[in-house]
Amino acid sequence: MTVTSAATAGASAPSFPSSPDQHLGREATRATLRVQSRMLAATREHLAARGFQELLPPLIGPVTDPGTRGSKQVDVDFYGHKYKLMTSAILYKQASLPAFDKIFYIAPNVRLEPLETAVTHRHLAEFHQIDVEIRDARRDDAVAVAEELVSAVVSAVVRDMPADLELLGRDADAFREVVAGSFGRISHREATADLNGLGHPQDPAAEIDWEGEEILSAKSSRPFFVVDYPKGSRGFYDREDPAAPGILSNFDLIAPEGYGELASGSEREYDYATLVTRMRETGENPAKYGWYLDLARRGIPASAGFGIGLERFTRYVTGRSAVWEASAYPKLPGVVSA
Ligand code: AMP
Ligand code: MG
Repeated sequence: MTVTSAATAGASAPSFPSSPDQHLGREATRATLRVQSRMLAATREHLAARGFQELLPPLIGPVTDPGTRGSKQVDVDFYGHKYKLMTSAILYKQASLPAFDKIFYIAPNVRLEPLETAVTHRHLAEFHQIDVEIRDARRDDAVAVAEELVSAVVSAVVRDMPADLELLGRDADAFREVVAGSFGRISHREATADLNGLGHPQDPAAEIDWEGEEILSAKSSRPFFVVDYPKGSRGFYDREDPAAPGILSNFDLIAPEGYGELASGSEREYDYATLVTRMRETGENPAKYGWYLDLARRGIPASAGFGIGLERFTRYVTGRSAVWEASAYPKLPGVVSA
């Protein structure tokens, strides 16, 4: 089925810039980045006021998030040892929790995404996450923090940046439900039934694909959470629900109007033996995760958290047609650029 939505209509979509000065020379880019700057400040204000400690994230490490959906990692030669650029700092967030009970990063990630993602309007090879983790929290605590944070950040933009929203042709009315904190929620099982009913085949055991995500997003007027993904669809650190074997205590946050996934989060696995089993089940070699498993043996605290893609969040708030428009120095998968 063909999807048409505000986010993908793209009639007046600008062309991908050939150099940073061309991109930054556009008034719409500058307005988008001014809004993004306000979003970052609002994120820090909101989380700091709730006792979150900001830490600067690692850029490299001996291991990183194994990732999903076919993206490749970038190796770094660290004095003769193979290190990786961070695809996600999730393991370091867990490692920080014995010291700080509520943390966040504004974390850069590098993922060599498959070439076909260059045209999804949603993928960059370099992007940032607002990465949040809360000790002793459950999945629904993380959902509540994500909802309040997104609502607070959007409210700050609507309040403080009307001129830039107008310049970008983004009607602040689109955010009425977000500002009111009214988000929807469906399970992965319900999302699967919805998509199959709409003629888009969705495997009940798998992650929702990009087209499926866009279909669900396009028919919603407000952001919504998809919860309880099946076990095989996610990484080893999403915790299985002890009361519902085969179901993970996790979530995605989907933006309305066709903008698609904004965030992923979960309750985290922390038990050493379960982590080793889950690594094996997901095709990961536990031997690569030495420091992390040593830490797990000593005891990682229970936690829940999430990561919001900053450029995707910015694209949604500013109503741009592609995520690269929300990056000052965009790197599109497979496109060699500055
Ligand atoms: P993930 O751990 O893959 O769910 O990534 C966390 C969040 O980062 C996602 O919900 C997206 O908002 C964002 N994200 C993931 N991959 C990309 C990408 N290639 N380009 C831009 N944003 C991304
Ligand atoms: Mg995700």
